[in-house]
Amino acid sequence: MTQKLIVLMVDGISADHYSRIRTQLPHLMQLEKRGFRIERLHAEQLGVSLAGRVSMLTGHTADQSGVYGNKTWDSDQQKFRYATPDDIRTPTMFSRAQAAGRKTACIGAGMIRPEDCDLMVPPNWVDGWAINRARDPEPAPADHPWQRVVDAPPTQQFLDQCAKYGLLTDYPAQMEGFYEPWMLMCDQIICDWVGAMAAAPLDESPDLIWAEFCIPDHVLHGTGTDSAWSDWTLIEADMAVGKIMQRLEDAGVADQWNIAVMGDHGFGPIETAIHLENIVPDIVYSGEGAVAVVHATPAEFAKIVEAVEPFGIEAGPQTMFPAEMRGELHLLIAPEKHSFEGLYGRDRTEPTGTPGAIATHGFRPGSSLDDRMCIMAGPSVPSGSAQTADANQVAPSLAKIMGIDADDFPAKSVF
Ligand SMILES: [Zn+2]
Repeated sequence: MTQKLIVLMVDGISADHYSRIRTQLPHLMQLEKRGFRIERLHAEQLGVSLAGRVSMLTGHTADQSGVYGNKTWDSDQQKFRYATPDDIRTPTMFSRAQAAGRKTACIGAGMIRPEDCDLMVPPNWVDGWAINRARDPEPAPADHPWQRVVDAPPTQQFLDQCAKYGLLTDYPAQMEGFYEPWMLMCDQIICDWVGAMAAAPLDESPDLIWAEFCIPDHVLHGTGTDSAWSDWTLIEADMAVGKIMQRLEDAGVADQWNIAVMGDHGFGPIETAIHLENIVPDIVYSGEGAVAVVHATPAEFAKIVEAVEPFGIEAGPQTMFPAEMRGELHLLIAPEKHSFEGLYGRDRTEPTGTPGAIATHGFRPGSSLDDRMCIMAGPSVPSGSAQTADANQVAPSLAKIMGIDADDFPAKSVF
């Protein structure tokens, strides 16, 4: 048995959303039938994208891995900035696979160090999202962790496989006014690359391929959790899974590959945006959906809590922060159907307003809204199901599928 594994993270596919429309997703249903489904895979304590990715990669909770949100407090720069792969403090599935002598390929996935990959294809969102969108006036230096990801060259094997299947070897350029179609096209191209690399002869193909399908998150934020648009993005993800499976079939290697498909967090509806800067003018915070991470001394935070209380906002636990940060990082939790949204240049002076995103993730730690779907299938996966599992059970389950030593993970495999 080759114990090869494809991980496809579908950004924002919640447990509830999947359950509601799974009959429209025949390829995922097919995996479900022969594989293992976790009906409600809990999210990392802050159910946001980068913390969710890191949790899947490491099998450690955020206080151990060091990545608790999309943004992290940078003590050198004294500000919140987007987390990078270098912020991860614990071994990842990539470093573990490499140490075990296995070949690894990151194909458009985030939070993976290029040094841990035999093949690194950067995510299409890195340029705009992780590097530039932080509104830094200066361009990112070449040794910036995300810049290293962008600059990693593709391998000859990747170029050869693309040529064999007639695929593009890079993302197409963006065109004004076509952002969503561009994102979807990138997702589909990523899945083409996954299929092409996995269809290489078994002694040459990677042992671990990690990829992402990102458009659902974007469309969910914009159109809500029960829109036909959001359903359609999951249907697109399902078609991409079918395309990967078909390439494996055609290459005669389908019975040698395991595949794991899951979300990084869930989603829930939002009716009101809270603008913290209009309640506490000098507050230093990172809005992470319906939770906010605040940088303050305990005395300052006590005053902040007093000021936000009339809006139904309350202080939350600090258990997701690394122990040494708990004196200066604090959590605020928004009331139901509220999220923390920055002003993003909007001329607003009121403490609350209509939200730019009518759905979001990152709810009160433990909220069922952030539960996500998860299916694993293949020759190393028993058929069966589990009602629930914890975020830190993902990595040990993946390690077990790959036959990589899983003894030192804090949590157990789901099977
Ligand atoms: Zn996400």
